[in-house]
Amino acid sequence: MKKITLIILTVLILILGLPLGISTIKYHNYSPEEVDIKVCSSDIKYFKNSYEDCRKEFLFLADQLDKKFNNVEIFKINVESKIDSNLYIDFCYIPAQKIKSKLLILSSAIHGIEGFVGSGVQQMTMTELLTEQSLDEMGILLIHAMNPYGFKYFRRFTENNVDLNRNCEIDENLYSSKNLGYTKLYNLLNPKGKVNLKSIRNRFFHISAIKKIITASMKILRQAVLQGQYEFQEGIYFGGNDREPQIKLITPVLKKISSEYQIIFNIDLHTGYGEYGTLHLFPNPVKNQKIQNDLEKIFKGYNIDWGNDEDFYTINGDFSNYIGKIIPEKYFLPMVFEFGTLNSQTTFGAIKSLNIVVNENQGNNYGFKTKKDKEIVFKSQLEMYYPSSKKWQTKVIQDSRKMMKSVLKNYNNLKIEDSDSTTQK
Ligand SMILES: [Zn+2]
Repeated sequence: MKKITLIILTVLILILGLPLGISTIKYHNYSPEEVDIKVCSSDIKYFKNSYEDCRKEFLFLADQLDKKFNNVEIFKINVESKIDSNLYIDFCYIPAQKIKSKLLILSSAIHGIEGFVGSGVQQMTMTELLTEQSLDEMGILLIHAMNPYGFKYFRRFTENNVDLNRNCEIDENLYSSKNLGYTKLYNLLNPKGKVNLKSIRNRFFHISAIKKIITASMKILRQAVLQGQYEFQEGIYFGGNDREPQIKLITPVLKKISSEYQIIFNIDLHTGYGEYGTLHLFPNPVKNQKIQNDLEKIFKGYNIDWGNDEDFYTINGDFSNYIGKIIPEKYFLPMVFEFGTLNSQTTFGAIKSLNIVVNENQGNNYGFKTKKDKEIVFKSQLEMYYPSSKKWQTKVIQDSRKMMKSVLKNYNNLKIEDSDSTTQK
């Protein structure tokens, strides 16, 4: 009798435990498949490993452009910090050289650590793509490192733990709004105490997340987590209590430069969302049909994610749409580039990405149990926003070059006679 009980127990443990064990091993060894491409040194040269080096190169290239074009303006905004007086947002503005008709704003590092890639794409654009012809009627404003603290100290968020891309809004009500879905997930998203990667919580993070996915749905969860929240300053995706000082300081710059043009078009550069090595066009939903049509013309031949996919989510307080809101009298076109890293469109990739963001933020709030834990979390976060793979880096620059060439041409060719509409989405 005892033997039978033992056998039944063993079988039960195997039936229940095996999938758990397999999924746990799979989860902890998860990494996306490498892209099939030949590494090219003339592409990866655009990647630097510190905020200072990226900034130095940006300023060097801005100087080169100043020599090549008329009336170039290079200026900076110092971002206040409790620990560092050398945090700058840098601007390089090249006005349209003949007729001021269209403006392109190419911005990087609103999510600090994503700036390594954003800066690389800006450097490539400045080095290779800004020809005299492309700047006859189009001006370009390059904004480097909107969140220099996060860039320099390897964080997505600012020194105040604010997600700047949830912070940009003219309607004050956003900052007192509630995200009830987030509140329900609070404990999963914001654990207290030092990060311990060997803890049960961390070993089985994927199981806790999957349980939530089963009770709600992936779409609802993704939305609740990622749309931003305005209640918990220590929490992930905190959008702030007011516009952050740097957003307030950038605002008059954007207004002044935009005022001279008829159409304003922003490309905001991000990493971390989507399929490994793929450049996703991922704007916050645009309802205005004309804006959609014009963006389709500019990105002809490419797929824009308009929000029909299962993995889509919307966000509050994003920078790109904010530009449109502060210049309501202008015709404005928003766009976001997302360079995919961890296959976050898949369930495992999404959970892994979330696990990394949670651990990094917990470590920032409470510290780490061991030095090793700190190193692992740091490294996995860096891989998520700035993959070390030279193949990935080559692909990002090659895809961006190809797309930006065609975007500059198509944007220059966009007809503006009907584009004086003031309707924003
Ligand atoms: Zn981002």
